[in-house]
Parts: sequence; C-alpha cells; structure tokens
Amino acid sequence: MNAVNLLEFDLDGLAAYCEQLGEKRFRATQLFRWIHHRGASDFAQMSDLAKSLREKLAGAAEVRGLAVASEQASADGTVKWLFDVGGGNAVETVFIPEDDRGTLCVSSQAGCAVGCRFCSTGHQGFSRNLATGEIVAQLWHAEHHLRRRLKLPEGERAITNVVMMGMGEPLQNYAALVPALRVMLDDHGYGLSRRRVTVSTSGVVPMIDRLRADCPVALAVSLHAPNDALRDDLVPLNRKYPIDELIGACNRYLDAAPRDFVTFEYCMLDGVNDTPQHARELAALVRERISCKFNLIPFNPFPESGLKRSPRERVTAFARILQDAGIVTTVRKTRGDDIDAACGQLAGEVQDRTRVSQRLATRAPIRIHRPAAQDGRGVYPPATRQESKT
Ligand code: SF4
Repeated sequence: MNAVNLLEFDLDGLAAYCEQLGEKRFRATQLFRWIHHRGASDFAQMSDLAKSLREKLAGAAEVRGLAVASEQASADGTVKWLFDVGGGNAVETVFIPEDDRGTLCVSSQAGCAVGCRFCSTGHQGFSRNLATGEIVAQLWHAEHHLRRRLKLPEGERAITNVVMMGMGEPLQNYAALVPALRVMLDDHGYGLSRRRVTVSTSGVVPMIDRLRADCPVALAVSLHAPNDALRDDLVPLNRKYPIDELIGACNRYLDAAPRDFVTFEYCMLDGVNDTPQHARELAALVRERISCKFNLIPFNPFPESGLKRSPRERVTAFARILQDAGIVTTVRKTRGDDIDAACGQLAGEVQDRTRVSQRLATRAPIRIHRPAAQDGRGVYPPATRQESKT
C-alpha cells in the first residue's frame, strides 16, 4: 500500500486522517505545524508528538515533496525551480524577492488546456492536474529551502505572498486548489493573509463564483484584450465566457474579496493589442463598471508563438492612456533576466506530448493591428511615467 502523503491535507483533512488513526485533533495540529512551520519530513524528529503516533505514521504516511529537476538563481535573487512531477511532466515555480515582500509563483497543472496564444504553457497542451500535495509541495520546498539558504532567524518567513500564476488554469483544478489555499492561509500552516494569496484565472466564470463562496482570496484575471473579437483569438476560453459575463463575475466576487479591486493582467503584444485605440477601448470597457487595476506585462517571446514584445515606448503610452482615465496601472518589471524564459518554456522542453504546437499552428493567424503611429492615423502620447513593480 502506498504511504499517504501528508502534504495532501489541509488542517481539517489532516485531523480527519489522524482521527482514523485514533488520534485527537490537537495531535493533527502539532503534526501540521511540524510539517509546514518547521519543514520537517522525518517523523522521528517531531519530538513533541506522542511516540505512539510517530509509530503509527511510520510506514503508513510520509511527507513527500517534489523532485527538483533544476534550480536556477538569478543575480537579482529570483529563483526558478523546475519540479519533476513524473511521467515526463515538469512544472515551474518562481520566487521573486522584493524589498518589502517575497512572492512565490506557483503552478496548478502540468500544461494547460486553455491554450492562450501568447503562453508557452498553453502551447504544450494539457497533461494533468496537480494534486493538492503537489501544489503545496512547491511552497513547502521553496519556503524551507529559502529559509536555510538565506539563514533567516527562527520564525521569519521567506515567502510573504503567493500568486497562483504559474503553469495551468487554477480554476480548472478547483478540487485540488482550495485545500492548497487553505494550507497557505492557515495560521498553523503558512499564515498568509487572504490579501497576499492571489488566484489568477483566464476567466472560468462559474468557478469564480464558487471561489467567492468557498475561499475568497485576491483575484487576478488575464484579460489581454478590450473586446470579445480579439479576446476570442488570444484567450479561447472567452468564446465560452465572454467579457461581459466575466466582468459580472468579477463584480460579484468583489462582494467577498479581501481587496476592493480586481487586477486585470494584460500581456502587451506588438501590433496585436497594444495600440492607443486598444487602450481607449479598454478604459471605456471598465470605467464605471468595475473597480480594477491593470498590470501590463511585457510579453516574453518564445519561437512557436509568432508574437513579439511591444516596444517599451508603446507600453508606456498605453499605460498613460489608462492612467489618464483614472485607472491605476502598473507595468510589470522584468525580473531574473539572466535566468529568464517564458513561463512554461523550461517545462515544455521536457516534453511536448500532445503536439498542441502543431494544432495551434494550423489555426488562422492573429490579425495584426498596425500601431497608430506607424499607419499615420495618430502619434503616441509622450512617455511620462516610470515603470513600477506590481
Ligand atoms: S495564460 Fe494561463 S490559462 Fe492561458 S494557457 Fe497559459 S497557463 Fe493556461
């Protein structure tokens, strides 16, 4: 019989498991704290656990992390792990340190079924959902590895924020996601506030409503286009849940959300979605309809996409139009340039198993909207604001 992986459980789940072993809830809390507060995996180390419980756990259970396929550390402190999740699949996890926080970008699936045009993971196709234990293991490994490496004093955390923004659409792996979020939020686990845990979705409307009811954390939505015609092309899920429905779900979510705005992610694609006209359309779309802020993301090119990064001045001009419309807008600062690869690209090199790249290549090409300054219909506003971090 396979040993039960205790990383699969939130505290209630672990209490139920311990109950099966004839143990009280406070024993589960002790065990949970050893695993998540202290990073322990050896039951023999867990000195305040009853010897009888340690004996029951030995052989029946284990704390099983993920195998590290590679780890790359950037000069700026960014660390990127590639975890082997078996069967030729790998997922990426990235730690991004900043002055006032340490953010971990966590994956929820091996591959992704949504197939966004600009996303390396989407081009690989979907392999499988990660289990709760595999989602939690990314945080467990990163937190305790970084504490040792950075020689942090006892009780000091390396990771203060988690964004479910790595590989996969987290809301298409809902059953595994929610217990993992609860481990992150639990004071006996990682003790992160709801404001500091963000689920990023491409817009799975019914699951946004479920998350609101089950575990409302901060919400980010991958918008990437100001109208349905273009978004249908870039984010195919839009054909099922168009922009109006998505904005409706976001507004409902805000009733329960820990923040009073939704973050819209917008990947800037040269000549595709980055013109002043797109920016004005975007401002008109959200103004007076939803409390939001925009995060403009410089595209990270990869060969199969056929897309290019917008020039910096166009990104600045785009941000300026949104800001002048009264919408808080930031431009994501690129980090870890010396270890950089488009999200999912490293994992994709492990295997491109569903040949989705070939499938995508047979689709109609994206319409390229020439930037206004090049087609003579207008000029860019002058670049003004400094890029800021998200
Ligand atoms: S952007 Fe997100 S939802 Fe879209 S294909 Fe990539 S991982 Fe999937």
